[in-house]
Amino acid sequence: THFGFETVAEGLKASRVGAVFSSVASNYDTMNDLMSLGIHRLWKDHFVRSLDPGVRHPATNPPQGQRILDIAGGTGDIAFRMLDHSTNINHDRQTSVLVSDINPDMLGEGKKRFAASPYHGTGRVDFLEANAENLDKVADSSIDLYTVAFGIRNFTHKDKALREAYRVLKPGGVFACLEFTPQLANPVLNALYKRWSFGAIPLIGQIVAADRDSYQYLVESIERFPSQYEFASMIRDAGFLIPGRTDADSENLEGGWEDLSMGIAAIHKGVKP
Ligand code: SAM
Repeated sequence: THFGFETVAEGLKASRVGAVFSSVASNYDTMNDLMSLGIHRLWKDHFVRSLDPGVRHPATNPPQGQRILDIAGGTGDIAFRMLDHSTNINHDRQTSVLVSDINPDMLGEGKKRFAASPYHGTGRVDFLEANAENLDKVADSSIDLYTVAFGIRNFTHKDKALREAYRVLKPGGVFACLEFTPQLANPVLNALYKRWSFGAIPLIGQIVAADRDSYQYLVESIERFPSQYEFASMIRDAGFLIPGRTDADSENLEGGWEDLSMGIAAIHKGVKP
């Protein structure tokens, strides 16, 4: 049946994603630098700065920080930046991050990095192996900031993950996503970019990691991700308010996101009312 087919296809998809990330886990960080020419670091820095994690002037005594949930947190790139920003910019040593990922191998790389970092033993970072579509280990309305960087395009049911984000966030809490976009607005740049991504990335994967197929999958998953407008609509449909958009704009979400590097990646945010 139609439904039977869909179930099989989705099941295959989830296991395929698992195999890809188990296979790339050990050289994931190096490959990220090679494939994006190091630019992913600038995007992540900008993403975290724009969220300004941490509480500068806590209203409570003892001071209370934020509880951040970094979904698809992988090797911990976003979590490290969150804690560094909170500590060094906002002088907040309470804010903590729960790093969650479906893949134990990616999470294992993150655990290794944190064990060798100044955050080890501070109680400011913990780990949860979970599918973003079902966060039943995370209580309702318990999270101040939910982040997902280069993760959501791999989720089988993105709408389910958005509903879970909404459930776990406190009212006033923020959903923030950094993700590639399927297409650049400028057609000439888009053609050049597609030649780079479809030509060079699987080749780099083959030469450096002896794994062409996984990197081919990663490129294809970017192509299948919704446009910025469609994704903003999905965030709104999950119940979030889109910053900068009033109720009157809710049928026109144009510009309700931030494009990075001519639109190769974008930041989307939503606030739980
Ligand atoms: N956020 C990290 C970063 O920016 O470097 C890692 C991004 S990596 C490209 C994507 C991550 O999404 C992988 O670690 C993968 O295991 C995870 N992932 C894929 N599907 C998932 C799901 N359904 N739930 C949670 N994590 C998932």
